[in-house]
Amino acid sequence: MRKISILLTLTAVVLSFSACKNTKKMENPFFTAYTTEFQVPPFNKIDTSDYMPAFIEGMKQQMQEIDSIVNNPEAPTFENTILVFDKSGKLLTRVSKVFFNVNEANTSEAMQKIARDVTPLLSKHGDDIAMNPKLFERIKAVYDNRKESNLDAQQIRVVEKYYNDFVRNGANLSKEDQDKLRKINEELSMLSLTFGENLLAETNDSYFLVVDNKKDIENVPQGVIDVAAETAKEKKMDGKWVFTLSKSSMLPFLQYSPNREMREKIYTGYFMKGNNNNKHDNKEIVAKMARLRVEKAQLLGYPDYASYVIVENMAKTPANVDKFLAELWTPTMKVSKEEVKEMQKIIDKEGGKFKLAPWDWWYYADKVKKAKYDLDENELKPYFTLDNVRNGMFMVANKLYGITFTKLDSVPVYQEDVEVFDVKEADGKHLGVLYLDYYARPSKRGGAWCTDFQSAGWEDGKKVDPIISMVCNATPPSGDTPSLLTFEETSTMFHEFGHALHGLFTEGKYNRTAGNVPQDYVELPSQVMENWASEPEVLKLYAKHYKTGEIIPDELVKKIVNSGKFNQGFETGEYLAASILDMDYHELKDTANIDVLVFEKNAMDKIGLIPEILPRYRSTYFAHIFDGGYAAGYYVYIWAAVLDADAFAAFKESGNIFNPELAAKFRKYCLQEAGDDEGMIQYVKFRGQEPSVKALLEKRGLN
Ligand SMILES: [Zn+2]
Repeated sequence: MRKISILLTLTAVVLSFSACKNTKKMENPFFTAYTTEFQVPPFNKIDTSDYMPAFIEGMKQQMQEIDSIVNNPEAPTFENTILVFDKSGKLLTRVSKVFFNVNEANTSEAMQKIARDVTPLLSKHGDDIAMNPKLFERIKAVYDNRKESNLDAQQIRVVEKYYNDFVRNGANLSKEDQDKLRKINEELSMLSLTFGENLLAETNDSYFLVVDNKKDIENVPQGVIDVAAETAKEKKMDGKWVFTLSKSSMLPFLQYSPNREMREKIYTGYFMKGNNNNKHDNKEIVAKMARLRVEKAQLLGYPDYASYVIVENMAKTPANVDKFLAELWTPTMKVSKEEVKEMQKIIDKEGGKFKLAPWDWWYYADKVKKAKYDLDENELKPYFTLDNVRNGMFMVANKLYGITFTKLDSVPVYQEDVEVFDVKEADGKHLGVLYLDYYARPSKRGGAWCTDFQSAGWEDGKKVDPIISMVCNATPPSGDTPSLLTFEETSTMFHEFGHALHGLFTEGKYNRTAGNVPQDYVELPSQVMENWASEPEVLKLYAKHYKTGEIIPDELVKKIVNSGKFNQGFETGEYLAASILDMDYHELKDTANIDVLVFEKNAMDKIGLIPEILPRYRSTYFAHIFDGGYAAGYYVYIWAAVLDADAFAAFKESGNIFNPELAAKFRKYCLQEAGDDEGMIQYVKFRGQEPSVKALLEKRGLN
């Protein structure tokens, strides 16, 4: 996952925050450029009380910069309008990057309070800039004359990007239509908030499964059983076990519990979330949101919401996405039908006398996994210590790009476990700084992500070097046992490291375009690195037993490679079904009310989804599209997966997975200059042709 700073360049101000009148202006570390080594944030000098005054002052400064653009008596030019706007808000960016990153990785009550206080201020600041008619007038003037103004290709691109941002926010509409748009936006944001609240309530309260016979959970991992016992205690059912609809509780139950009736009950509870005709029902909200999005898109001149979203992406049109998903759908369903047959065989052999149902899938897939792949995670872990994996990814980057990583011991960190590296080019020149924050702790949110304290940029004619941060949630070392990763966690480390390389290699003179890539491109740099993690040649380099130093045996390597194809009919199938449902909602063209359940059923019937599989998210709990940023965009993960499989295939086809010429091309076109032109154009410069789905199908065993 790549975290994109919530602070885009479209931002403006709230001046009257007198309660936070700053009394220590001179010593606030955000108020001046950092003087530390490599200009990293001076974490040892930052106090929680420094944030709010820096936010307030930062917004004020940016508003003054906007005013200076708007009130400039000279005719608008690239330099006096676009460039000033592009470079505005430096202090605000500086404090935001530190604050939001630390708030995610090492939060506290005080930090959370600041986040709650500052978020509405920032959002108003952003709106005030985006809807400033005088600012838009000047940007439009530069835009209208861009071809006659002696601008270079990059400058024209920046002008077009900014103009487009404003237009997409309604700047070109009549006052009356702007008011309509504002009302729709407001309504949509409230509906999506309610959708999320309903979903949370349904997940927590609509259903839970009480188990009182140990036999029903005998193979469930102990950690999950402990949590279930704890949950039972909270519900005053001491001695029993309670499983909930959260995936970390439900999935292990579905995978390991032999009690079929209970599996059906908990899974039914899950897929009925938001659809129980109670006060937390989401059906009406979904219907309303679908309708409002049609209205919004049409107000802005698009036939449907998907067109409005996807025009910004590599795919360009909904038709291209539909065609792409359909191309994957057919072979995936074929494989999923085979998977059903395989599992049915086991059921029949065990004398089951029933037909495989959706709630049986995890349980029987696990049996297939054991029989076919014989893969035990615990057997792998000793080879994947955190140090091995980190060294492995550094080694891969070194072999591909020649870059080196030297640990820095004297720069300030925000938490004592965090390690910092000086990243250098092959010739020893400084490239950037990389922070690695490895371990889970209560102050850190779940998951793994990559972000930065300073994006690569350009200032006063000089390159600004990036300061990147990678955050994971690995199990900390305990006693003599080092931190050991599962293979999935290993892939995740490589994934985030791919985002980090993207950030480190990015170059560009303008903030709006440097490193700025479409939503369906973002996961290419990251997912492509996962390919190296599981490559046998690479595994042999880094996967060594932490006790004996023994290199991972061939037999285990083979199991890792093979298991990449396990259960892909199901996993790709449920994902694609949800992507198609998402597209169907956002290709609606009329605003008539829909019946959500009928709509969903028709969408799935139309593509022939087999009854043993449900879409990964049904409408009433599809948070990505109704309470997240993925409306008409759930497809992007697999779009990028096609790119990464195709890109890695180029290395494989060349007979050298560290092919230096290919690496140099990938670095230049797909990482360093990725924001300079359209995603597909950049990709073709690397590959010589558009990607084909072939490599992905092969990788997942769907060919
Ligand atoms: Zn990612």
